Amino acid sequence: MDGELTILYVEDNPDNRLLVKRILMVEGYRVLEAEDAAEALSVLESQVPDLILMDINMPDIDGYALTARLRQNHNLNGTPIVALTANVMRGDRERSLEAGCDGYIQKPIDVDLFPRQVQKYLSVISPGEPIRGQ
Ligand code: MN
Repeated sequence: MDGELTILYVEDNPDNRLLVKRILMVEGYRVLEAEDAAEALSVLESQVPDLILMDINMPDIDGYALTARLRQNHNLNGTPIVALTANVMRGDRERSLEAGCDGYIQKPIDVDLFPRQVQKYLSVISPGEPIRGQ
């Protein structure tokens, strides 16, 4: 791995944040956390993560609205946004893609599968590899 990859995890539930952060740190990622949309926007003023993991169900601004907003930020053109949602049966998959997410990971996460699910989205933009369509 060429340098440390940074992942921003936007999630209002502290237990979920702790679990995901632990897994990602074991995998060698640098982890930024935000507990709501306002904190995420604040973090993104000074940092451009390699991947954003986005909880959908959050108070105030939900993950769909925040994703749509982040997709207007050209600094984040190369940053995949992946929805974390428990509601895949209610059309959340489609809604997350419509909002500008690059994919989704179902909650509760599978601790064994999760590192590979994350790696899949990071490998799309591995350094030196041209991004399709650009
Ligand atoms: Mn939530």
